[in-house]
Parts: sequence; structure tokens; C-alpha cells
Amino acid sequence: MFERKISEDDVRHVVRSGQVIEEYVDDKPFPSREENQMKCMICKQGETKSVTTTVTLEREETTLVMRLVPARVCKNCGEAYLDDKMTSHLLKTAEQIAKAGVQVEVRDYKAA
Ligand SMILES: [Zn+2]
Repeated sequence: MFERKISEDDVRHVVRSGQVIEEYVDDKPFPSREENQMKCMICKQGETKSVTTTVTLEREETTLVMRLVPARVCKNCGEAYLDDKMTSHLLKTAEQIAKAGVQVEVRDYKAA
């Protein structure tokens, strides 16, 4: 058993390795705004769209499930992107519940 902090890399790994559970709710609560398009960094072809998704963050004894997380996902390859603010929010929340000794925490993301 070794202690380690959940790092930003872990989150990116979680996202990259496809552990973002695909419960996309298309265009809700974010209306389609085509002017805010972003090209996918992986396939370089797809455009990304705004979705809400469920992010599961696991460490040895703690699992954080955050629902209704605003993210962008590539229409072509399905790569999901979280912005930096969201990433650090998830990390902070995971650290808090780990410190509190909670094993599984399910939360709905609410913008501050
Ligand atoms: Zn892509």
C-alpha cells in the first residue's frame, strides 16, 4: 500500500483511458453554440461539442463520481476534454473526500 496524491496527470489519464463514462446529454444544459468550436487535438479532424458527462476518479480506497460535468467531446473519435478549471476542481474534491475517509462519493457538479 503506498500513498499518492491524485495528480493532474491521473485525471488526464482517466480521461484518455476512456474511463469517462459516456452518459452524454446532448446539448443540455448547454445550447449549441457553433462559434465556440474547438478542433480535436487527437485526430485533428473532429470538431468538439459541449456535453455533460460523468467523470469517475479512482484511487486506492476512494472513488469520486462526479455527474453533470461540463466537458467537450470529439464528434469524430470520442476523445473527451475537461478544461483546466474543471480538472483542478475534480482533483480538489477527490482530495477532500480521500482525507475524509469516504470510500465512494457521488456528486452532481454545480458551477460555483
Ligand atoms: Zn478526435
